[in-house]
Amino acid sequence: MPTEVGTPVGLAPMHVQTHLLCGWCIGNGFRFTPRERLLCMVVSVAPDIDGVGILFSEKAYFNFHHVVAHNLLFALFVSGVFAAFSTHRTKAFLVYLLLMHLHLLMDFLGSGPGWGIFYFWPFSRWMANNPYAWPFYSWQNLCFASIFLAWVLAIAIYDGRTPLEALMPELDAKLVKTLRRAAVWRR
Ligand SMILES: [Zn+2]
Repeated sequence: MPTEVGTPVGLAPMHVQTHLLCGWCIGNGFRFTPRERLLCMVVSVAPDIDGVGILFSEKAYFNFHHVVAHNLLFALFVSGVFAAFSTHRTKAFLVYLLLMHLHLLMDFLGSGPGWGIFYFWPFSRWMANNPYAWPFYSWQNLCFASIFLAWVLAIAIYDGRTPLEALMPELDAKLVKTLRRAAVWRR
């Protein structure tokens, strides 16, 4: 169970954004449709669904976060369901599975000590714990976030799309146009 009771709750959103950006960046490394790239972002944050316990009580949050949806079974289930709604099913399934594991790895590294991963839950209560994990507000997490943000900008400029492409195509096009103009101006 987590030991740093009281610290990570308010800091979690920063981490969710980093997961989102990670899903977008990795998803763009494959020949995917806009919907598949959107699903790449969704699977990248999907494990944090078990953090909704915070809406009910702090106890529920600490009991279920990093447990119920941060495990192999949930990763297989969500990847399978999302792959069923994808065009390139096999490839999408494997990439979704990879992204969910990247989420677990990022949490393992940067969620602060005591926030272990119950990888085999519900079959086992064994926890992968990292006593050297850096805290949410750390330069390491800021570095990760900055790298992904720079990557997102590079994708916008060179590939002509942003994470908004599937949901808000018009705004996406405007953003790409603005960023490309700014990139040219800076040269
Ligand atoms: Zn997480």
